Amino acid sequence: MTERRSLPSVDQLLRASSVTEWVAEYGRTLTVQAIREALEEARKRYLQNQSVPDDQELLEIIGYLLNTWIRPSLQPVINATGVILHTNLGRAPLSQAAIKAMNSVAQGYSNLEYDLDTGRRGSRLVHAEQLLQRITGAESALVVNNNASAILLVLTALARRRRVIIARSQLIEIGGGFRLPDVMAQSGARMVEVGTTNRVHLSDFQKALDNQPIALILRAHHSNFKIIGFTSEPGLSELVKLAHQAGVPLVDDLGSGAFLDTTQFGLGHEPMVQESLAAGADLVCFSGDKLLGGPQAGIIIGRTGLIDKLKKHPLARAVRADKVCLAGLSVTLTHYLKGEADREIPVWRMISYSLKDLQGRANQWLDQLRKGELLLGESTVGGGSLPEETLPTCLLALKLGSPNQAMVRLRQAPTPIVARLQENHLVLDPRTVLPEQDGVLLESLTQILKD
Ligand SMILES: *Cc1c(COP(=O)(O)O)cnc(C)c1O
Repeated sequence: MTERRSLPSVDQLLRASSVTEWVAEYGRTLTVQAIREALEEARKRYLQNQSVPDDQELLEIIGYLLNTWIRPSLQPVINATGVILHTNLGRAPLSQAAIKAMNSVAQGYSNLEYDLDTGRRGSRLVHAEQLLQRITGAESALVVNNNASAILLVLTALARRRRVIIARSQLIEIGGGFRLPDVMAQSGARMVEVGTTNRVHLSDFQKALDNQPIALILRAHHSNFKIIGFTSEPGLSELVKLAHQAGVPLVDDLGSGAFLDTTQFGLGHEPMVQESLAAGADLVCFSGDKLLGGPQAGIIIGRTGLIDKLKKHPLARAVRADKVCLAGLSVTLTHYLKGEADREIPVWRMISYSLKDLQGRANQWLDQLRKGELLLGESTVGGGSLPEETLPTCLLALKLGSPNQAMVRLRQAPTPIVARLQENHLVLDPRTVLPEQDGVLLESLTQILKD
């Protein structure tokens, strides 16, 4: 046991050869901080009558501290859960072309707000706007930070201190604190709830419109839940007709929104952006990183008169999208224009894998590992889209001590692996593992199975 007074000084530790290396790697200031913290820890232990670390242990503590301080806390993981738009795992992985475009604008300067034809100031909004117009036929478009900010901007710019009608069946909460009544309150709009939890009729909207001046009608998609049984909600076209008769705009919060029809992949129908516009919605809002398959963004499309009001509102600046997002989003949108979205956008590629494709992948994993067994299972779309809908998949089930312990060990892999439990088995779903991650995944699994 080392005596307290025999603890080395900061200067003595700085002369140790490993510390010299750390100074070169991490810088002197940070290394000295780590030394001070390690010595402080040693003094604390002394005061608590615990054994005080010797020099070797002190160096280990210093190295450990430096390593943990510097290691990026945000890092790639392997998503083997089979949940395609996993909100906790960063939602949509991006297409190669989108990543390339984001990389190139991040690296240097760009014409973000510079008109290359005139040599004058331009607008960052034009880049994605034209593509969105071309895909959807919308008059105008605006891209902001995420869909939550899109809704906040719409309500603030168009309905502050005024009334907004919403069906009681649509007062939704999306994970992570997005609750429509709270967003409404934040915007300063006054919420007029109509109907009941399970049944809302067109006449409920009519009554509300007759009784007071209304700024807009908001419709929100039941993204992450289903109401079944004795239920009814007016269709979008009927609601639009009613709104327009009263001279009130209708805003449709689609949440995910899809440009492709999910039913062609054996899923239920996720409302499409084009359908909302065709039904006459004046503004349609949706996320960039749900079924669109792009970077985090909120997209608002619709009538020019309304979008112009949003663009001019001071909040628009506070929630604007950055250049890296706009670059990635634009390229993601071009995949739709070129009719290659199901091949190039990872989210759609994952949705379109057949059971046979997945059995092939899982079999390859099994061949290489020579451990585990294949099970049939179900993948889900996630990210607040298509609740209760599943896609048939083939899972690799592994026996690794207790399944919960095994989950911990997978998460501790150099590239952490997030799996899931099915009937007390630890299972890995190939649907959401990017093919280029197979090598790293199998390397880690081999190591873990060997220990
Ligand atoms: C997901 C979702 C939102 C929030 O979108 P973010 O892009 O996550 O901010 C809002 N409304 C609905 C209906 C949603 O599904």
